[in-house]
Amino acid sequence: MIPGFVYQSSPSRVVFGSGTRDRLAEEAERLGIARALVVSTPGQARLADMAAGYLGDRCAAILSKARMHTPVEVTEEAMAVVTANEIDGVVAIGGGSTTGLAKAIAYRTDLPQLIIPTTYSGSEMTDILGETADGQKVTVRDPRILPEAVIYDVDLTLGLPTAISVTSGMNAIAHAVEALYAPDGNPVVSMMAEEGIRALGAAIPGIAAAGDESEARASALYGAWLCGLVLGNTSMGLHHKLCHILGGSFGLAHAETHTVILPHVAAFNAPHAGDAMARVARALASDDAPGALFDLAKDAGAPTSLREIGMSGTGLDRAAELAVTTPYPNPAPIEPHAIRLLLENAWQGRRPTA
Ligand code: NAD
Repeated sequence: MIPGFVYQSSPSRVVFGSGTRDRLAEEAERLGIARALVVSTPGQARLADMAAGYLGDRCAAILSKARMHTPVEVTEEAMAVVTANEIDGVVAIGGGSTTGLAKAIAYRTDLPQLIIPTTYSGSEMTDILGETADGQKVTVRDPRILPEAVIYDVDLTLGLPTAISVTSGMNAIAHAVEALYAPDGNPVVSMMAEEGIRALGAAIPGIAAAGDESEARASALYGAWLCGLVLGNTSMGLHHKLCHILGGSFGLAHAETHTVILPHVAAFNAPHAGDAMARVARALASDDAPGALFDLAKDAGAPTSLREIGMSGTGLDRAAELAVTTPYPNPAPIEPHAIRLLLENAWQGRRPTA
């Protein structure tokens, strides 16, 4: 039987394909942007210049200073540029860190955002912003934060290094896995989540294997879009909580942490989320969701243990404590001893099974 549910679609426009960056000026015009601020990370300044070129007279300023975890100092600098240049819209080209800066500006100004993602983080599809001030990362949700339009151009992801592609893809899959058992999920979300996992599960081995990867890249970006959509429509559970703690309090890299933790949380939740795990397994053409997630990452050369991504064994007790301090939705009960064991398994890099 289908249980009762609430479904709300996100008011955002998506342009997907190869060479879609050609449509940047047209999409900016659609949003009424005449004086855009283009943002990127320092490493992707070249892409920001390219976007400015496509925008022509519609580009009023470029700021290539986006950083991981959206530090408030950078946002304040961007706000000064917005005021000084009478900016009426933000164009972001890059990964989740760059999208974070656009969202931080929109949260303060309600300016329209046009995002061109180059990783699989999915941030462009959500109304969620994580900002860091004085070393503390605070998450806010607000309709102003949801980008108005997104241009997915597969060509721009062709140069994403293999290692980042794999972990970023696993980060996207993690959104879909948690959406499948979220208390505010619904049949449409589950359909998109399963399809997102299938698309990324098929793409990751193709990206990891050298050779012509254009088909795999298109599949991965399509999957990332779906996984971002379901992230924006549901409440995340234990997996995202643990990754937030490991990133925020122990400085571990975002996508790598997701990659290592996901199979272990899947195994932890499996006895209480049978339908969700059956969908994950089906999407990965397996009968063992946690094992298949672990193998997907490992076979593509991604890290599989917290130890190898810089977590000290002495921090595990503290991480487990932090994970049980505030409540959040999760299918399996959150018990300190069980969480500590999960972290130990992830630290050692043991292969979990359902
Ligand atoms: P990122 O944006 O930090 O990018 C990682 C690195 O890859 C950067 O150095 C970037 O310059 C480089 N890069 C990006 N695209 C590239 C390309 N095509 N070719 C070559 N290099 C490229 O990392 P990310 O994993 O995309 O995003 C992580 C951040 O996004 C975190 O801060 C996370 O909290 C946030 N995030 C937010 C949400 C949300 O809904 N608010 C969702 C997911 C992630």
